Amino acid sequence: MPHSHRSDGIDTLLIHAGEPRPPLGGAVILPVFQSATFTYPGAGEDAALRYIRLNNTPNHQVLHAKLAALEKAEAALVTASGMAAIAAVLLSVLETGDRMMVQDGLYGGTHGLVHQDLKRLGIAADEVCGDDPADWRARLQPTTRAFYVETITNPTMRVADLEAVVAFCREHGLVSIIDNTFASPVNFRPLEHGFDLSLHSATKYLNGHSDIVAGAVMGRADLVDRIKRRLDHLGASLDPHACFLLHRGLKTLGLRVRRQNRGAEAVAAFLSRHPAVTQVNYPGLEAHPDHRRARRLFDGYGGMLSFEIDGGVAAAEAFLGGLQLPVVAPSLGGVESLVTRPAATSHAGMSPAARRAMGVSDGLVRLSVGIEAPEDLIADLDQALAGG
Ligand SMILES: *Cc1c(COP(=O)(O)O)cnc(C)c1O
Repeated sequence: MPHSHRSDGIDTLLIHAGEPRPPLGGAVILPVFQSATFTYPGAGEDAALRYIRLNNTPNHQVLHAKLAALEKAEAALVTASGMAAIAAVLLSVLETGDRMMVQDGLYGGTHGLVHQDLKRLGIAADEVCGDDPADWRARLQPTTRAFYVETITNPTMRVADLEAVVAFCREHGLVSIIDNTFASPVNFRPLEHGFDLSLHSATKYLNGHSDIVAGAVMGRADLVDRIKRRLDHLGASLDPHACFLLHRGLKTLGLRVRRQNRGAEAVAAFLSRHPAVTQVNYPGLEAHPDHRRARRLFDGYGGMLSFEIDGGVAAAEAFLGGLQLPVVAPSLGGVESLVTRPAATSHAGMSPAARRAMGVSDGLVRLSVGIEAPEDLIADLDQALAGG
C-alpha cells in the first residue's frame, strides 16, 4: 500500500459537493432536465442563456462543481467523450505554428489526434520519453507551448517523472496537461502537484459502469473558460441523460477504486508468483521500474495491469478463451473485469517491431480489474492459466 491516505475526504465530496441545497423541488436525486432550452433570464439574473449544447443545464452545473471539488480545481467541464475533452483542450491551448511536447506511448486516439489532425492544422508534436529532462531541454523550441502526459501509460503502466514535467513547464512557461484517466482522482490529483489542466475519459473510472461515453476537464478557471467556449463551438456537449448516469456513477467512485486497487494488488501478486507468467506490469509491484515514484505520488496503484504468459500469442489466446469472469472487451474502469490483448486491439495499427519497442509483445494481456471478490478473480485466472 502507498503510505498516505490523503484522499479519504473525497468520499464526502463525491456525495455532497455541488449538490443544490435545498434540493430542487425537494428531490433527493437531481432529476434529468430533458429540456434543450430554458427561459430567457430577466434583468439582474445570471445572464447566461441555458441550452444543452452550452453545457450549462442543472445536470451539467452539478457535475462541474463536483468534479472541480474532487481534484481541488478552480473549475471543471464535462464533455461528450474523453476525446472531446482532449480535442477541446489542445485546440484551446495551441494555435497554428505552435509545438507541443508529448509523452511517448500515448492512448491511441490521442496519438492519432496529435499526429494526424493537429499536424494538418500546423501544430507540431515532439514525442519524448517521460523520464528524460535533458532530452526535453534539447527539444524545446521558442514555439513550444504545452507538455502533454498521462498519469499511467497503457499498457505497460509506466509513470513518468511527473514532478519534473511540472517543474520544466513552470521554468519554460508551458501549459502542463495530464490525462488522469487511469489513476482517477481517488489515487492521484494532478493539480495538487502543479499541473495546469487534468482531463479524463469519464467513460472509465469516473462513471465506472461501462454504459456511457463522457469526458471531463479540471483546472485553472481562465483555461477552463477558454476550453468551454471552444467546446460550445465544436458542439461536443454531454447529453443530460449521460450527465445523470455520470452523476450517479461518481457517488461510488471512492468505494469502487479502492476495491479495484486492492483487487489489482492481489492479482498482480498472484500473477508474479505464477510459473506460466513471465512478466507483470503493475506499479504496485516492487519490481516495477516506477514503483518508488508511484508510491510517493499516488494514494493507490490503480486497477490496471498487464502481463505476459509463457507461449506468446497462442498461449494468450487460449488463456482469454478459458476465462469465465473477465469479459474479453476493450475499455476499462468498469465494475466488471475487462481483459484484452493490446496487439489485437488498442495497438493493432502499429507494426510488431514498433510495439515491441514500447514493451508491448504480441502475447501481452491487459486486465482492468473490476469489483469482483479478488479470490474469485484469482481462482478464475488460475484455472485459465492451467488450460481451463
Ligand atoms: C478511453 C481513453 C481516452 C478516450 O476516451 P473516450 O471516452 O473513449 O473518448 C483517452 N485517454 C485514455 C487514457 C483512455 O483510456
